Amino acid sequence: MKRYSVFAVAREALRYHQGWGRAWKSPEPKKKYDAVIIGAGGHGLATAYYLGKNHGLKNVAILEKGWLGGGNTGRNTTIIRSNYLQDASAAIYEKARSLYETMSQDLNYNVMFSPRGVMMLAQTQHEIRGYKRTAQANALQGVSTEFISPEKVKSLVPIINIDGPRYPVLGALWQSRGGTARHDAVAWGYARACSDMGMDIIQQCEVTGIRHENGQVQGVETSKGSIDCQKLGIVVAGHTGVLADMAGFRMPVESVALQALVSEPIKPCMDVVVMANTVHGYMSQSDKGEMVIGGGADGFNNYTQRGSFHHVEETVRALIETFPIISRLKMLRWWGGIVDMTGDRSPILSKTPVGNIFINCGWGTGGFKAIPGSGWAMAELIAKGHSSLTEEFSLNRFKEGKFIDESVAAGVAH
Ligand SMILES: Cc1cc2nc3c(=O)[nH]c(=O)nc-3n(C[C@H](O)[C@H](O)[C@H](O)COP(=O)(O)OP(=O)(O)OC[C@H]3O[C@@H](n4cnc5c(N)ncnc54)[C@H](O)[C@@H]3O)c2cc1C
Repeated sequence: MKRYSVFAVAREALRYHQGWGRAWKSPEPKKKYDAVIIGAGGHGLATAYYLGKNHGLKNVAILEKGWLGGGNTGRNTTIIRSNYLQDASAAIYEKARSLYETMSQDLNYNVMFSPRGVMMLAQTQHEIRGYKRTAQANALQGVSTEFISPEKVKSLVPIINIDGPRYPVLGALWQSRGGTARHDAVAWGYARACSDMGMDIIQQCEVTGIRHENGQVQGVETSKGSIDCQKLGIVVAGHTGVLADMAGFRMPVESVALQALVSEPIKPCMDVVVMANTVHGYMSQSDKGEMVIGGGADGFNNYTQRGSFHHVEETVRALIETFPIISRLKMLRWWGGIVDMTGDRSPILSKTPVGNIFINCGWGTGGFKAIPGSGWAMAELIAKGHSSLTEEFSLNRFKEGKFIDESVAAGVAH
């Protein structure tokens, strides 16, 4: 056995402490991951989870510049529904909604999925037409929704004012198996399952550069050093443009702040989710009793994680006219996230101009509900190079003009 002097051991210990590696053993060869996912939000974690679970790809790292679910995943108002108009959207959102039904069992982690029902109020003739059309489309797509009368709305939500000072309630699009789930539990559940499969989740690790050679990805530069990979998934929501810029291509997305607030807790008074898109606000009650309130996105591009004052004022005004009993509630917390919006209000799940770089973004104000379906589809795209669920959501649609117009379902709604 080779012997070392006390001084040599001390020197090696110091080198090791300073991060130079163990000089008395040959250094381990640098690890190359089969896949690296940038962004430990719900979509990134779900992508990694289904890469392992559905495709056996477990040599995977998930890199997060902050903490698990600290982006939009932990900042949203948790509405889950699949009542979209276009077939491609209904397919991916319904896939996601159905996966939510068994997510707590699948992950062995209680994500508190509560299919309490979601209603979108129709307060103009235009909305009645739009929602009836969506209900018909949903029937063909196998998504269970119905258009209900104002009387049914009132019976489901007794605290609602259906005569509204500005816009009366004329009916609603009702999805009885829509609902809510605990947002950070979704991130934590997927993260634990990924970790159990042996994947590396590296927090406080910001990607600062993307390396590619001859049109193929090689790896990433991060605040913790350089990492090599075969395939790379960029799943960073509001920071999509920044990461795409590092890889050398441009994305048709804009980043804007979207905000939400919660009230002090009160006794149970509303057991469904209500969205009032004409007056511009939506509300549900959390299990703790807080009224969870959201409104519209800022009308200008920005990267702030708080929203502008005029939107809070508009949202609160809209909800007080819809639910007069909340007028004396005190608000407890107010926050914002950076959402990534596309022109047609539909997401992008796609290959990119660089070989083996895949991108998932553009969920805008409504991607929480899509997390399991998006992860399922994205994993298939990364593992096999194609997925029937992502086909129409590729970047090519912006070249070919094949937009998936969801401005009615997603322009304001969540
Ligand atoms: C106020 C608000 C209310 C909402 N309400 C709803 C709702 O009711 N229902 C619904 O379906 N959707 C809703 N949404 C939208 C939903 O939250 C998002 O679409 C969804 O969470 C996006 O998830 P994600 O995993 O793509 O992004 P995120 O959760 O934002 O994750 C992206 C991660 O990437 C990380 N990242 C960024 N840059 C880097 C880098 N350089 N290196 C490493 N990591 C990086 C970020 O730190 C972040 O953690 C709402 C959003 C907001 C802000």
